[in-house]
Amino acid sequence: MLVIGVLKEPEHDTRVSLVPDIAAAFIKNKLTVLVEKGAGSRAFHSDQQYEQAGAAAAGRDELLSRADILLSINAPTDEEIAALLPGRIVLGVYQPLFHADKMKHWAGKAITTFSMDTLPRTTRAQAMDVLSSQANIAGYKAVLLAASVYPRYFPMFMTAAGSIPPAKVLILGAGVAGLQAIATARRLGAVVEVFDTRPAVKEEVMSLGAKFIEVEGAADASKAGGYAVEQSEDFQQKQKAKIAEHAAKADVIITTAQIPGKKAPVLITAEMIAAMKAGSVIIDLAAVTGGNTAYTKNNETVTEHGVTIIGNSALHTTAPADASKLYSKNIQNFMKLILDNEGQLNLNFRDDLVQGCCITHDGKIVNERVAQLVAG
Ligand code: NAD
Repeated sequence: MLVIGVLKEPEHDTRVSLVPDIAAAFIKNKLTVLVEKGAGSRAFHSDQQYEQAGAAAAGRDELLSRADILLSINAPTDEEIAALLPGRIVLGVYQPLFHADKMKHWAGKAITTFSMDTLPRTTRAQAMDVLSSQANIAGYKAVLLAASVYPRYFPMFMTAAGSIPPAKVLILGAGVAGLQAIATARRLGAVVEVFDTRPAVKEEVMSLGAKFIEVEGAADASKAGGYAVEQSEDFQQKQKAKIAEHAAKADVIITTAQIPGKKAPVLITAEMIAAMKAGSVIIDLAAVTGGNTAYTKNNETVTEHGVTIIGNSALHTTAPADASKLYSKNIQNFMKLILDNEGQLNLNFRDDLVQGCCITHDGKIVNERVAQLVAG
């Protein structure tokens, strides 16, 4: 029987890659599931719950030596990878475009690596899209965090003691996180304005009750598999002027603009922050790739000109129970593509999704973009 191993995530991550319910479904499908002791504890799943689901608790070393497929969200250490038998499968979110050298090392060990963050953004892939399930939570939490830090009300109030105007929220980037941020800010009664380089999102933004800020001349991203592309110098200048105008009026800014494999664009400059109202709040979800503001520091809160700037790309980990549940469901759906009905491995690289998120296989880097990075 094929053995699935569930690793405990490092200290900074509260999630687990497989919740007991999905472990039970795997076991029903003739798989053996080993779970590292304490792996689910910060997502509120005890070892006992895994055992009740039919899984066995194991130490990390045992898991690494016995599992045919190792599940985690964060990457195992290079030493752990080095000790794996050739042909073993690792599946997680490894950001291979930022860690090409690591992938080269892994390829040398002849293991098969699936990195879920490189899955093509197609309709069929939606049920296994971990970036979406996690970004959705991050967008929601970003607004809740902003609302609690912002020293005023979000909704409009007309009271006997006077009137309170609604907060003005500016959202940069209307991808999955941005769209959820719009919906959440609207639910809290804010007035929301949105900017994205993809004009295609305008209708979605408007249907959520927000205003779309138009800048003409964006680079065509329609052939980038659903991911954003870098913009021309001319467009960036026009965009900068528009954002400056709207940032000066905003009380809260949520930034989410990322470009896969590249540093995040700086959309909010030091001058723009100097022109903002004191007490305003910026939540930068792109902090981990450099941030969308001139002052963002990843995992830190800084205050400049009275504006609080929170750099946090891991807000989904503040909802570990739901983040783990949705991540596990994504993985269950992906596993259906690489396992047959008997629970045996069936790697079909003609399937665009299997091929799309495979980074290393058979001693080689099989992902073109990562291979290019390694070749320099
Ligand atoms: P992301 O996290 O990579 O980026 C967030 C947003 O920032 C994107 O909308 C992007 O266009 C925008 N952005 C990038 N540079 C910008 C700039 N300079 N100024 C302003 N905005 C900028 O995006 P994401 O949430 O992962 O989604 C990206 C795309 O993938 C969207 O089109 C989304 O609808 C699509 N998608 C498809 C699927 C699927 O079909 N399986 C799943 C999820 C997302």
